Parts: sequence; structure tokens; C-alpha cells
Amino acid sequence: MKSHAKVVVIGGGVVGASVLYHLTKAGWKDVLLIERAELTSGSTWHAAGGMHTVNGDPNVAKLQQYTIELYKEIERISGQSCGVHITGGLMLAGTRERLDWLKMAKARGRYLGMDLEIISVDEAAKLFPLMEKKHFTGAMYDPIEGHVDPYGVTHAYAKSAQIGGADIVRHTRVTDLKPRSDGSWDVITDHGNVHAEHVVNAGGLWAREVGRMVGIELPILAMEHQYLITGDMPELAGKPEQLHAIDFEGEIYLRQERGGMLMGTYERAGVPWSPVTTPWDFGQDLLPNDLERIAPSLEVGFAHFPALGAAGIKKIVNGPFTFAPDGNPLVGPIRGLRNFWVACGVMAGFSQGGGVGLALSRWMVDGDPGADIWGMDVARYGDWTTLAYTNAKVRENYSRRFSIRFPNEELPAARPLRTTPIYERLQAEHAVFGDYCGLEHALWFAPTAAQAEDRISFRRSNAHPHVAAECKTVQNGVGLLEISNYGKFDIRGPGAADWLSHMMANRVPAVGRIALTPMLNDRGKLIGDFTMCRIAADHVFLVGTYAAETYYMRWFERHMPAAGVSVRPCAMEYVGLSVAGPHSRALLQSLVRDDLSTAAFPFMSFRRMEIGMVPGYVGRVSFTGDLGYEIWVTTDYQRALYDLLHEAGRAHGLKPFGGRALNAMRIEKSFGSWAREYRPIYGPFEAGLDRFVDLKKGDFIGRSAAAEEKESGGALRLVTFKVDATDADAIGDEPIWHDGKTVGWVTSGAFGHRVDYSLALGYVPAALAKLDTGFEIEIIGERHKAQRLAGAAFDAGGKLMRT
Ligand SMILES: Cc1cc2nc3c(=O)[nH]c(=O)nc-3n(C[C@H](O)[C@H](O)[C@H](O)COP(=O)(O)OP(=O)(O)OC[C@H]3O[C@@H](n4cnc5c(N)ncnc54)[C@H](O)[C@@H]3O)c2cc1C
Repeated sequence: MKSHAKVVVIGGGVVGASVLYHLTKAGWKDVLLIERAELTSGSTWHAAGGMHTVNGDPNVAKLQQYTIELYKEIERISGQSCGVHITGGLMLAGTRERLDWLKMAKARGRYLGMDLEIISVDEAAKLFPLMEKKHFTGAMYDPIEGHVDPYGVTHAYAKSAQIGGADIVRHTRVTDLKPRSDGSWDVITDHGNVHAEHVVNAGGLWAREVGRMVGIELPILAMEHQYLITGDMPELAGKPEQLHAIDFEGEIYLRQERGGMLMGTYERAGVPWSPVTTPWDFGQDLLPNDLERIAPSLEVGFAHFPALGAAGIKKIVNGPFTFAPDGNPLVGPIRGLRNFWVACGVMAGFSQGGGVGLALSRWMVDGDPGADIWGMDVARYGDWTTLAYTNAKVRENYSRRFSIRFPNEELPAARPLRTTPIYERLQAEHAVFGDYCGLEHALWFAPTAAQAEDRISFRRSNAHPHVAAECKTVQNGVGLLEISNYGKFDIRGPGAADWLSHMMANRVPAVGRIALTPMLNDRGKLIGDFTMCRIAADHVFLVGTYAAETYYMRWFERHMPAAGVSVRPCAMEYVGLSVAGPHSRALLQSLVRDDLSTAAFPFMSFRRMEIGMVPGYVGRVSFTGDLGYEIWVTTDYQRALYDLLHEAGRAHGLKPFGGRALNAMRIEKSFGSWAREYRPIYGPFEAGLDRFVDLKKGDFIGRSAAAEEKESGGALRLVTFKVDATDADAIGDEPIWHDGKTVGWVTSGAFGHRVDYSLALGYVPAALAKLDTGFEIEIIGERHKAQRLAGAAFDAGGKLMRT
């Protein structure tokens, strides 16, 4: 084994092999893969090899498309067959809701360029005669589903990488990793050591153990997974290969395997494998079968596809593979570690392995993944993903793999975990809670405890009238919202303002003022949106998205000067409450000595104040677009602050409101939100953030790309639509049509209760963004007329916020 390499990739499963290949393709030739046994010795070797393009996250779906198209390339380079069988696939619906879900998936696929089709039960049965029609209501057909040979794919990647200059060492186990002061690594193995500039953890079933070598606990857990292969079936003899099929109600997938059928199941009673430590002596082993555990799924499967039951079971495979809590991969650099990268938690290696390798290699070689991979960025998780949390969430995710997730559905596992001091107070107000990064936050408030329950639906739900009432309270009186679920950063030091000015696109505000700002990457794309609150010359309180805290800190630390500035994430040290609505000033004024008049404390002011006995920071700003204030206090004061506002609020008709009302109101104001309107695929001018980009203030990250975008106008434009919706509103990811063609996609949508119509925000080509009419938005399979609005639907001039 060589003693030095630019990169050591740990793990020769399909993912490590893909990373190795993509690194050579990107131009890094001095790369070495170390595999403990033979290639494919983790979960790869016994995989069913199925692949498909559909994914809940459109950006992950794009990488899945890329993976499937890649197989021809690596076959050509390596001469190794991947055993690709493109049979086409059917997703079979057994209920109306499932058919609605498929229609939405098809619509999303439309703007991703996928050729999906909704077909009738009769048409489905012609394509897949094994199904018993009476159990189904319709289906979606995808022409590019199929399966591959896991051995062939892994070896095709590996050989292609070797042809590109990579080395592969087998039967060598990495036993430890030691960082050097220059950011490089000593990779310790049982056959000698390698000095590497970069290390990639593609350890699959052992990725957790490799993570522990560098002091991190990756949120992944292996689950046992079983599939069976039937005996030969006369129904298949002499026929073209059967399609792939997913039967959601049976929670099973099917494909042909030689003369029989392969049937796998994501059973409700899924069982984790090696929940704490993965044994190093586990090799190309299988786990004991447990037919009883999958019996309920088999029963449905044999009823829905009777010929399978008659064929008998020839073979059963039970093997483990890993999942992250949300089922998407974990990819990217680890915050706090230099030159340490992960590519693990890949539960669909044959759909996703190529995309993961591509994104990671670009990230390593170019400093940027080159695509929006937020959905699989390892930094989407933080401290709350303890071993037990991950265990609960992965089990839930596994058991729901083929379940519908409704837009208003909150999942119950691992809850409640994190609560703020006013949790019980909000419960007493009949709050319906949601889970955000393990933290409970109020979504909406019901009139009685008995009504405090979401009835899950793709259409307007039972919460609709209550959310309407909350919006009206804010519009006409005053509402109280908990805002603890934001990310907060305490930035201090003599260099704080200069550093922030370099990091952010907008000018750092004067002391006592607030400024909103996008954060851009070097390519001038949006990687964050923040509120900068200047407390003192050398002190800024920065508010952003909590889910992206690790993502932001990783970026901040990468750009940290040697001295003069410190950044401390302090999300749960500061919790907050916001009062919003025309009576909010009178309410807050009754509790503070400071003069809150517009002359003394105008819009976008920020100051330390005492609210009764509670010390806090008050900002005059509100995401609802009304007159409003955000109050930040340390956690120990939150309950006292709540009680104070609650008590004083009686005279002003104060009522609580939740996240659903806030979302509807920010859409009425055309205010964007991270991971929806603001993502690394959009530029700030495309996103309509022109007024928050100060190209004159001096240099900042992304400035030249932003200047170019301003000059060219950008390719896309974020616009607001009034939608002729009926009983369902857009929620995001619906296609936008114009003149009979799909031209864009929705990023968020909701019913605007203050304006009394349905709204959507979305991106369209810049040239179309000037047109007002001719647009349609497809909601659950139906196209609805949509009118582009010239400005925000509610208080377009922004007078109310400033009054
Ligand atoms: C029964 C079953 C059916 C499946 N069906 C499908 C399917 O139809 N479609 C699909 O896309 N996916 C399927 N999967 C999932 C698929 O197998 C995984 O997505 C994929 O194998 C993950 O690959 P990996 O490279 O991340 O991990 P692994 O395959 O686990 O590879 C990790 C490798 O790293 C090596 N390694 C770990 N630690 C070290 C170390 N310290 N030193 C040296 N080497 C190390 C291991 O020996 C191993 O070879 C299935 C899985 C199972 C179990």
C-alpha cells in the first residue's frame, strides 16, 4: 500500500466506489480506496439492485436520474457489465389519497423533465398482468425504472476509477484516524499507515464506527430488510421481463428475478440491526429470516398478486442497510473537522450512489457540490440526533417507507423531546404542535382541547378556519407567536462588523438597527438569509434558520479570521416571543419604559429593554408584515415574559397564533424562506432580494457573481401568484404552466386569510415574469388559473410595518 495519497476513501461498497470514480473524473488521480474485505462486503452485495427516479426531494430526484444515466458511462469505460435491466415501473395506488399523491409526484416529475404517466387500473393490468385489479384505483408509470447487478455496478465504478488512476487496497481495515495540525490525516490500518490530505468515510454499515474514530456520532442506523424470491412461475415463461412494481398498501416492491419474482417489504415492525456497534467480523453474511415479522405484508402481497402465492418461496434474504432519520443520505464535510468528508446513510445505493459520488467529488475538488444538495447534506442534523433519537426516527421512517406523508402530517416518534419553558402554557391554549429539529413548536391553536388535532389531508384541513381566525387577530388586533425555533448566533469582537460585511451581501447596520441580508456562496448563489441586529459596535445578534445552524457554522468557521471575531451559536440560550398586529405597540408600551413611538423606535430598530422585570432585546420587525415586535430573552425568563404579555394582553384582545398562520401571512407578503424560496440554486436578484444586496459597500463573498447576475438579470424570477384554487392550496413543488407548457415550479403556497384568496410563490423564467396572466398551477392533478401579482398580496407598499 502506498504511504501517501491525496484522498483515502474508506469503504468499497457501491458508494465508496462511486466517490472514487468521481474523484478521478474530476481530475484527482492520487486517490486510494481501502476496503476491509472484498469490494461489496457491506450491504451492497445482497441488495435487490432496484432503482428509480422518484424522490420526495426534487433535488435528490435529479441526482437519482443522473445515477441511472451513469451506468452506460461506467460500463463503457470499464468493460464491466452493470447488469442493467430497464423494465419500467408501476407505482400502484389502492386508495384515492394514494392516487392524489401519485398525481402530485407526477406533477413534480414534470418540471424535472421526467416522463411519468398516471394510468388506469386496466392499463396497469395490461402492463403488469400479475396484479389483481380489484385492489387498486390507478397507477403511475415510470419508463426508466429497473434493476442492476450490485456486484457489477460496484466493480464497474472501481475499474473505471482504476483506469482513471485510482488505487484500491482490499483486505485492509482502517482502525484509526489521527489528524495532523495542517489538516491532513494519518490513516491507521492493520497493514500499515497512509498519510492522506483528505479522508472520505464511505463505511456504509460501519460508517458510525469510522465516525467514532474522529469523535463524531453520525445519525445512522442499520435496519434488517427482507426480500424473498419465488419459485419459477408459468405466468412468466416466454414473456418479456415483468415491470417493477410498488404496492403501497401492501408495503411491498416486486420485480422479476430469473423465472420467478422478487418481493421485498418495508414492514411496520422493522427491526434495527446492531443498534449501538456494528461487529467488524460481519462479512458477506446474511441474517436469520423472520417470516413472521413480514407475514402481514406477505398476506396482502399474495392477495394482490395471487400467482406469487401459488409459486412458493425459493429463497429469503435478510440483510442490514443503513438509514438517516429522514431516509436521505449524509454527504459532505463535517463541521469542526478539516478535510474529513462523509458519504454514508445511503439507503438506495443503486439510485443514489452516482449522485452522491458526483456531489461529493465536486465539493472536494471545486469547494462546492455544484447542485442543491441540502436534502442530503450531513449538516442538516445537529446535536439533537442522539443515538436513541436516531433509533426512534429511523424505525419510524423505515416503517413508513411506503406510507403517504401528508403536508399537514406531523410524525410522532421521538416526541416530545425538546420543549421551551412555555410549552405547558401553549398546551393550555390548545396548541397543536409540530416537530422542528426535535423541538416542539405551535402550529395552530384549537378552540378546545378536543379539537386540538390535525386531520391529515392534501386538501384544506380542519385547521383552516382556526388559522383564518389567527390571521384575523393579527390583522385587526394583536397576536402572540413563539419564535424560539430560529437559529441565533452571537457575534463579537473588534473585527465582527468587518467580518460580517465580508460574509453577507448587505451592509452591516448601525448600532441599534436591524438589516436583512442574504448570504451568498462564491458562485453568488443563496446559502442563507439572516437578520443582523447590531447591539454594539463590536456585537451583532444574528438570526437565521435553526435547521441550518450546523450548515452555517461550517461555512462561518471555514471563513474565520485568525483573530478579532468570535461566532457562537446560541439558539436555545435565547428564546423569543413576537407580538404582531395594530395593537402590538399599545400592548408592549404598557410594559416597557422606552418610548415605542415610530419617531423614537422606528421600523428595524433593535435595543435592550426591560419588559416588566424581564431583561431582553426588542426588535421592531415582524415576519407577518404588520406592525410588530420580536422580543428575545434568555431561556430562564421566557415563562415570566409570556405571563406578562398574556396578562397585559387581555386588555388588548391578545390571542396566540402559530406557525401555519405565520406561513400564510409571510406568503401574503411575498417574504421568502430558507430551503423554499432561498436555496443554492437561486441568485439573490432572481429571488427578488435586490434591495438587500449592496454591491457598493466593498467586497464580500459572491459579490462578482452577484454583480454579473444583476447585469444579466438572471435566468429565473421569484413571483407571487393569486391562484384560483378550490379546496386545496399549493404547498410547494407544483408545476407552473404557461401557454400549455411547464415553465416553473412553486416553492410555497397557502391560503391568504387576510386577502381571502389562495396564493403561491414560485420561480418562472425571467422573460415570463413580466406577464400577468396565462399562468396555471397544477394542484393535485388539476390545473388552476393563476394570476401573477405585481407585488405582495398584502400591504404591498409595506406601510403597516412602518406605521
Ligand atoms: C436486503 C437488501 C436489499 C436492498 N435492496 C436495494 C435495492 O433494491 N436498491 C437499492 O438502491 N438499494 C438496496 N439496498 C441498499 C443498498 O444495499 C445500500 O444502499 C448500499 O449497499 C450502500 O452502500 P455503501 O457503499 O454505502 O455501504 P456498504 O455496502 O455497507 O459498504 C461499506 C464498505 O465499507 C467497508 N468498510 C467499512 N469500514 C471500513 C474500515 N474501517 N476499513 C475498511 N473498510 C471498511 C465495508 O467492508 C464495506 O464493504 C438493499 C439492501 C439490503 C440489505
